[in-house]
Amino acid sequence: MTQKPAWAIENYLDVKNGRLSVGGADCVELAEKFETPLFVFSEARIRHNIDRLKAVERAIEMPLKICYAAKANSNMAILRTVKENGISLETNSGGELFKALKVGFAPQDIILNGTSKSEEELEQAITAGIYAIQADSLFEVELIESVARKLNKPANVSLRLVPEIQTDTLHGLQTAMLTSKFGMLAPEVLAAFRRWHNSDLLNLCGIHLHLGSQNPDGRPYAEAFLKLFELLAQIFDETGKRLEHLNLGGGFPVNYLRDASSAGMMTEDQQALFAAQLEPAQVLEKAVSVVRNVAKDSGAGHLLEGLTILLEPGRSVISDAGLVLTEVKNRKQRPLPDGTVDSWLLTDAGYNIMLSMNNYDWYYHCISASHADAPHETKYKIAGPLCDGGDVYFDIEGTNKLPDHRLLPENVETGEILAMLNCGAYSLAQMFPYNGRPLPAAVLIRENSEVELIRKRDSYELLIESDIW
Ligand code: PLP
Repeated sequence: MTQKPAWAIENYLDVKNGRLSVGGADCVELAEKFETPLFVFSEARIRHNIDRLKAVERAIEMPLKICYAAKANSNMAILRTVKENGISLETNSGGELFKALKVGFAPQDIILNGTSKSEEELEQAITAGIYAIQADSLFEVELIESVARKLNKPANVSLRLVPEIQTDTLHGLQTAMLTSKFGMLAPEVLAAFRRWHNSDLLNLCGIHLHLGSQNPDGRPYAEAFLKLFELLAQIFDETGKRLEHLNLGGGFPVNYLRDASSAGMMTEDQQALFAAQLEPAQVLEKAVSVVRNVAKDSGAGHLLEGLTILLEPGRSVISDAGLVLTEVKNRKQRPLPDGTVDSWLLTDAGYNIMLSMNNYDWYYHCISASHADAPHETKYKIAGPLCDGGDVYFDIEGTNKLPDHRLLPENVETGEILAMLNCGAYSLAQMFPYNGRPLPAAVLIRENSEVELIRKRDSYELLIESDIW
């Protein structure tokens, strides 16, 4: 029996007849039928990832509300799949809230986040009667109050704390430091409770924080939960108000380096970040046990009773459930000063559909879908189709944040289908039609291996639909 590739995932990502298969669907056939670039998602993997998060509830023995972070990927069929798996939704704009309601999430299963909410967005949220609007500042709490007054309808409000906790993720993904743009200080949260705890218009029901994305270490979650609990206890002492929930945000990491064959070409920091593996149930169990002990010692254990814990995972639900198929459209050889030659492959998938690769030097493992079982040992420089020298699958600055070359089978020709793995989060949701490139289609492989088109490829007509000339 030949050994499975390191990137293979049981019942999802595999080699069949020498080609890449997603849940039983042949990726080369998918590429032929739906054209490239193409997003491919797996229903089975989404369910698996959600089940893993549901295990948190058993581990912490407290009520848990998992709110999938729609920003990671808010395609309607993905939202529908998330909903069918019985969890709630975190939205970040009126548009995401619109999608949530349209796809059928109950208002009690929706929360609204964001730093710059408009009055219209607040009206939308209050009218729908969602579980919580997460306020980002004292100014915003006042704004919510004035909108609630205008509508003569109370609003559920949770306050976002900036806890000044650093994690080991990338600078741009830190969201819990004072230097970040998010949230309010603990004294401001307390001031809000002093002022509004008896309000008829505002039901201040919880406090919230989010540490950042792809957090490689569990320690900050325990620290964060303790800070939230201490604040909750202070709020109770000063106002007698019992909170309904504490929201610990998202940020659980995904292992982008299941296949670590290229890891040696990256810095140690990058390797640690992209190979991060945390079990959410273990992380939360630890965090809750720290807080239980503190609560017991301080006689505040009763404040944990009936308290619901909220989580807002995005990446850990959808990232490894999606990949991008791309075709090699062009190739060339470039001589190097040392007498060797670089083989270049030019694909049809640029950073306009995988923005993090450009923004954050994000690592997506690249394999050949056409020859998935061939040894991947030959070095190539790979680049996308955009008219931008930065549209390459390596770090243009030469700082080894991304591998300098990608490893693929020998003699890759034009027409070969490549797959960029783990592309399900923050890719389709952030894509844009730079260079007049119509945005790609997406398919969902159902648990019975049926292929469902969940996004049409954009047309040229769509490219000009909003222009007025
Ligand atoms: N919640 C908030 C407030 C966020 O800003 C984000 C993303 O950064 C998330 C949840 C989801 O984070 P992740 O996708 O890392 O789980």
